[in-house]
Amino acid sequence: MSSPVHYITLTAPDGEVVGYAWGDDTDVEWMHRKASSSGAYKAGLDWYTKVHEAHGRGLTPLGVLNLLSREPGAGPVTEAPDLAALEDLAGVVTPADDRRLLAQLDRDNAAAWQELAEAFDALTEEDRDVQWGGGHKSPSGATHVPFPRYSKALFRAVQALHGVGAVTPEHRWRHSPMPQAPPAGGLRPADAVRAATAVVTAERMSDGEIATAVENGLLDAIADSLRAWYADPAAEQTRLEAAPPAGRLRSAPVVAPPAPRPEAPAPPMCRFCGGSPAADVTFRAHRGLVLFMGFKKMAGPMCMTCGLAVHRALTTHTLCVGWWSPFSLFVFAPLTLVRNLLAVREVKKLPAPGPGTLGPRYDPGVPIHRRPRAYVALVPALWVLFMIVTGLVGGA
Ligand SMILES: [Zn+2]
Repeated sequence: MSSPVHYITLTAPDGEVVGYAWGDDTDVEWMHRKASSSGAYKAGLDWYTKVHEAHGRGLTPLGVLNLLSREPGAGPVTEAPDLAALEDLAGVVTPADDRRLLAQLDRDNAAAWQELAEAFDALTEEDRDVQWGGGHKSPSGATHVPFPRYSKALFRAVQALHGVGAVTPEHRWRHSPMPQAPPAGGLRPADAVRAATAVVTAERMSDGEIATAVENGLLDAIADSLRAWYADPAAEQTRLEAAPPAGRLRSAPVVAPPAPRPEAPAPPMCRFCGGSPAADVTFRAHRGLVLFMGFKKMAGPMCMTCGLAVHRALTTHTLCVGWWSPFSLFVFAPLTLVRNLLAVREVKKLPAPGPGTLGPRYDPGVPIHRRPRAYVALVPALWVLFMIVTGLVGGA
């Protein structure tokens, strides 16, 4: 795809970039940032839901982005030359990502680091020469799936990686490239954590990942990098930052998260159509059903057209079904109607809205007095009147 796309950058409360909502002419989608923390990944699932809810309401893709860009943690709507450029952005690994992975290492557990050193020092050429079992045909004709026969010493070394905290859910290995053979300059410590997590976890899904990492030297490079970091975290970081990164594990250039936008006094935008001006109002509907009562509320900035539409719909609903319980009849229905009348006065003061940016505008339809359902309200009104009159007559 080579047409431009629009996107907004979405961040967690701590400023970590969670991912991007992006849209083209026809669709709007969510893209996780690949190196994000597990907490940010979960936050991204919420954004994902919001994107699809907004799109499901009939907003245009750009309308969805405009709407979400007003939420806390969202950046402004931005254009990227194409989707590939955005995917590059989502693949960026930041120094904060590296620090988060290094923080998973259990520095204080001296015994675990001792075990890591001893386990790897104890590996022999035989341990490294992984043999495969299976692969033969049984008398029944079935082929046994081949599997690697890891030695006890090799298992111990892998366990030692767990022991120091180098295998961590904070590296979402399935969303990241599988690590390759170590570059000449050695692995950066954070990349060692990534590689340890990916190799050890992937082995559970497909046999032989550890065997491959032993063969191409990645497993030893992981241990070397971790041990050097433990010996002197500051020096190791400095040395490796100076070395040119290589392989697919390299960190991409640093991109700062979008600066929080100043609270510009933007004119309020209608929550439904995006038109301005808009008034911040609340309309209500009430339903009384003998024993049950229902309350419904629609609040937020609304332009004159959408506000009138909401007023007419909710007020008519209340006039029709608002009366049928004692509290509803004497308290909630009248209260709802009065509050709606006060709110619609605010909306009617507005001039006609400018063009909307979020999608179709509500159609106010016919006035309430031309809606048959509204006249259901005559039944309780006449009944109350009847009771008052008979009460007066009876008391007289
Ligand atoms: Zn509107």
